[in-house]
Amino acid sequence: MKPVGPIPAGYDTLGGELAIGGRSASDLVAEAGRTPLFVYSRALMDARMADLRAALPQRVGVNYAVKANPHPAVIAHMAGLVDGFDIASSGELALCVAAGIDPRRISFAGPGKRDDELEAAIRAGVTLNCESEGEGMRALAIGRRLGIAPRIAIRVNPSFVMTGSGMKMGGGAKPFGVDADKVPALAKRLIGEGAEWRGLHIFTGSQTLSTDAIIEAQANVLALAGELTEAIGHGCPKLNMGGGLGIPYFPGDTPVDLPRVGAALAERVVQLPPALAETELCMEMGRYLVGEAGVYLTRIIDRKESHGTTYLVTDGGLHHQLAASGNFGTVVRRNYPSAIATRYDAEPTEEVNIVGCLCTPLDRLADNAMMPRAEMGDLVAVFCAGAYGATASPSAFLGHGPAAEMLV
Ligand SMILES: *Cc1c(COP(=O)(O)O)cnc(C)c1O
Repeated sequence: MKPVGPIPAGYDTLGGELAIGGRSASDLVAEAGRTPLFVYSRALMDARMADLRAALPQRVGVNYAVKANPHPAVIAHMAGLVDGFDIASSGELALCVAAGIDPRRISFAGPGKRDDELEAAIRAGVTLNCESEGEGMRALAIGRRLGIAPRIAIRVNPSFVMTGSGMKMGGGAKPFGVDADKVPALAKRLIGEGAEWRGLHIFTGSQTLSTDAIIEAQANVLALAGELTEAIGHGCPKLNMGGGLGIPYFPGDTPVDLPRVGAALAERVVQLPPALAETELCMEMGRYLVGEAGVYLTRIIDRKESHGTTYLVTDGGLHHQLAASGNFGTVVRRNYPSAIATRYDAEPTEEVNIVGCLCTPLDRLADNAMMPRAEMGDLVAVFCAGAYGATASPSAFLGHGPAAEMLV
């Protein structure tokens, strides 16, 4: 037997089934007309944002990292909740513009921005989080050609990392950002050659559950931003401090202590380095805002035994849920929180392997998991599916096509 991860708070039972946004899983699937289906809950996104607003000092804004979930309805909903948007491609820019988001609320990070992407962003008035000297020079040239001063911040590759971070994006050699020691010279050059200086972006990691690591990283980020701003000799209009707050996926994972993060940050914010006295501060998060608000629903197509093992074969799989299958940056496969959605209040009575419909042994949704007895036609729920699911999975693999998506 292998345990499944903790089901996030906020999910209910209705008529014995899992309920999302007050509606049963089968009702939602009936409306969508098909499975597999991602369901994203407005109420859970609202609740998460309310927790963040309550915990963080007022001075610190919240940006949404669109790559976590770029579903148009999710972007449109987030537009009413967050202060800014972080994008990583011109495709994400187009989605934000289509949602009516003011481009001045958008910043664009990511290595390897093409000239056409830089041009689209500069025309729109998006802030470029500059990842290299070469990119900065291309942005200046494009700005001159267009007669527009590009709005530019520098993404810093700091010399420290967030300890306990699931994905390291700072410290040592990295494709992301400009090494901290090279930032002042580049900033002076960009400003001297006519860029509209927007400040600094320091992203130190992702999917961290350690409250202490987050607090320490934020202290380091503020100190570094203060030093760099002094060395640059121009005020820092905005500091994007990164985010990195993780969500519990696996047995034993515990949530970040958000009130403690907020209290520590509040203390720092009243004694900022003098160079940052006027600086607008924000954090940027994807997974923390939407990850737990999403559920992936897939239908059991077959129930079979092989050498004493029961397999529940679903119509979903790794082509929509690469991370849950254990093939997206994990070393040892562990079970995401999952359940039989149509028997949500029944007691677990049997050990099963829940697999997807792809013809590869990699396609697993839950291994050796205790579940209530389920039959063909029942729905399986995989939780924590709101971030890095639909668009971070190879939906073209094996030709089954993308899942349906719905915001409730
Ligand atoms: C991916 C990414 C994020 C979002 O990370 P989460 O773990 O989803 O919060 C934020 N900022 C940058 C620069 C990123 O690359």
